[in-house]
Amino acid sequence: MRTDYCGELRADDAGREVAVCGWVATRREHGEHLAFVDLRDRSGVVQCVVDGAHDLRSEYVVRVRGTVRIRPEGTTNPALPTGDVEIGDATVEVLSEAEPPPFPLTDRVETDETVRLRHRYVDLRRDRLQRNLEVRATVNAALRTAMARQGFTEVETPMLIASTPEGARDFVVPSRLSPGSFYALPQSPQLFKQLCMVGGLDRYYQIARCLRDEDLRADRQFEFMQLDLEASFVGQAEVLDFTAEAVLDAVEAVTGERPGAVPTMTWHDAMERFGSDKPDVRFGLELVELTELFSATGFNAFKAPCVKGIRVPGGADRTRNQLDALTDDAKRYGAKGLVWMKVEADRTLTSPVAKFLSDVELAGLVDALEAAPGDLLLLVADERPTVRHVLGLLRLSLGRPPVTEGGLNLLWVVDFPLFESLDDQGRPVSAHHPFTMPNAQDMHLLDEGGEALLDIRSQAYDLVLNGWELGSGSVRIHRPDIQSKVFALLGIGDEEARTKFGFLLEAFRYGAPPHAGFAFGIDRLVALLAGEENIREVIAFPKTQSGTDPLTSAPTPIDADALTELGLRLLPPTT
Ligand code: ASP
Repeated sequence: MRTDYCGELRADDAGREVAVCGWVATRREHGEHLAFVDLRDRSGVVQCVVDGAHDLRSEYVVRVRGTVRIRPEGTTNPALPTGDVEIGDATVEVLSEAEPPPFPLTDRVETDETVRLRHRYVDLRRDRLQRNLEVRATVNAALRTAMARQGFTEVETPMLIASTPEGARDFVVPSRLSPGSFYALPQSPQLFKQLCMVGGLDRYYQIARCLRDEDLRADRQFEFMQLDLEASFVGQAEVLDFTAEAVLDAVEAVTGERPGAVPTMTWHDAMERFGSDKPDVRFGLELVELTELFSATGFNAFKAPCVKGIRVPGGADRTRNQLDALTDDAKRYGAKGLVWMKVEADRTLTSPVAKFLSDVELAGLVDALEAAPGDLLLLVADERPTVRHVLGLLRLSLGRPPVTEGGLNLLWVVDFPLFESLDDQGRPVSAHHPFTMPNAQDMHLLDEGGEALLDIRSQAYDLVLNGWELGSGSVRIHRPDIQSKVFALLGIGDEEARTKFGFLLEAFRYGAPPHAGFAFGIDRLVALLAGEENIREVIAFPKTQSGTDPLTSAPTPIDADALTELGLRLLPPTT
């Protein structure tokens, strides 16, 4: 049907007879007989000069035949790759008529998201989405090649499984053949990839679909894709290398440039300096330790286990209202209050609380924060985790650049704690998942219990890109004795462990190699590479924020017979 793609015609093609196919992007009448038609396909648009009147409308699907020619002087369009040429003496064959599109297809027009998703097939015709899906395909291809080159075998693991604990709620599927029983959809292939290691596959990878029933956000959909990998007889260093190689290949495939080696930061440093385990290192505003400076302070609000501050360069011009708003934010994030100080021309500090601080403390503050005239200093005093959390969030709200700025800053965060907190009953909560190997030097703390558990480092690591957690991984526990101990601490009793992961524990009895792995979110990587704030822009058919699909109307009720067949009866909805 066609000889060329619209967007690929250039001055070199002048004189050629061509046939192109696509959608009518715009149509402008010129006199009675002549019309300029911009024809669009996936490669771009080309202008066609059509002789004779045609009842062409936007989004009609047409085939155009004609001769490529250089546009007349003064009518070239340097903004368009095909802007030097046009298809002249064009004849048009209508292949499909089209109703007027439900929204304009230019990138300049903002359309309500539900409307866009309702007609996603029209939305997909837009440049931006075409480009994003190309980026996505390029990333997938590069990842596959990188993994194959590194000796990994692609293995598909099942979708209908028993639960895999990744800390989210499962999507469940009722079983017709075993009424009253349910499959879980995989939150990740975690348990299966570990079984592959016991199965001697040595190096496994998969571009895996994962499903987690969590509230949707800009960087989270119910279903997402991850590059999932696992390898035997390796430790953390090798996994970091395998993963970095794949990510760097993917970045290079999209941008044409290969970023340098990925730097590493410990979890502890990330928390202390950025107040986050996924620090956005594109900008400063680092958290500065001030606890020692105020160890003997007379100011009650600073008599706390931890005091930290950040310096906002040039921030002293904020109004009282703006400062009050910052204080409200800090309280919303969990602080009791926020102390602000403005740095005057002579580097003295103006603040409602300055009178409660000694000269030594004030001078010490200026030094520690390297304060310069015109800066704003923000201080929080509280328990250490609260201080880090609050200042970490304030830092982001004050300094985070738009997604398209600051380059791509990949970062490994290593030495995560094994447990992130203790619950009401004093039981630890896994920071990663329960199969994560504790750090060898900290293994003895497993027997101590209580607060000491929180000091156990694990062999878990995250990959962070511009403040987004791209993925996580760990060295796994391959010894049943350590696994039982961790389960016991987590309150997973023998019985529960047997029902939930009995198959894994049993498998380990038949010869488990030491193994380690990683998984990172492809949607997030692609979004950042495509300069998108929201992963929905890089997914062909995403859900709305409320988890629905306006196109297919999913989720939909099912009829009574289908329910009966599944052995299910619905309760009236609870509000
Ligand atoms: N299964 C983990 C996740 O999906 C990744 C891993 O530990 O390999 O986050």
